[in-house]
Amino acid sequence: MSDLRDLYQQTILDHTRKPRNKHEMSDATATADGHNPLCGDKIKLFLKVSNGIIEDISFTGNGCAISTASASMMTEALKGKSLAEVQALFERFHTMLTSPMDRDPDIEVLDKLAVFSGVREFPVRVKCATLPWHTLQAAIKHEHRPVSTE
Ligand code: ZN
Repeated sequence: MSDLRDLYQQTILDHTRKPRNKHEMSDATATADGHNPLCGDKIKLFLKVSNGIIEDISFTGNGCAISTASASMMTEALKGKSLAEVQALFERFHTMLTSPMDRDPDIEVLDKLAVFSGVREFPVRVKCATLPWHTLQAAIKHEHRPVSTE
């Protein structure tokens, strides 16, 4: 697992330095605010959902390296995914972070997100890594569905 550990550090660093999709979105169909008081992370999530597909997703806010990298990688991973796929990914991600260190992550499903399995070494940071995902859940629940003509 040492390769995954190196990858963890490199990936987090890369996404902290150059967060992807970090901007506001004027035509978002849903937004939500997330706050992790344990660390001081704050995030605002913007979603543009059309026909059950995440067409666009972005975030703003201030947080530690882990929460910023997690938000950045989450937005990268979810663009173009259906809400059902998003839900499945969230469950895998959550399971990975709450399972013992010796349990290997489901790389096939999680892909790059598997690097966050390294966060389990620092239990205090798990909430930083899951903050963007919990904020996403809130945004999806508040989503205003367009009025159907059918
Ligand atoms: Zn944090």
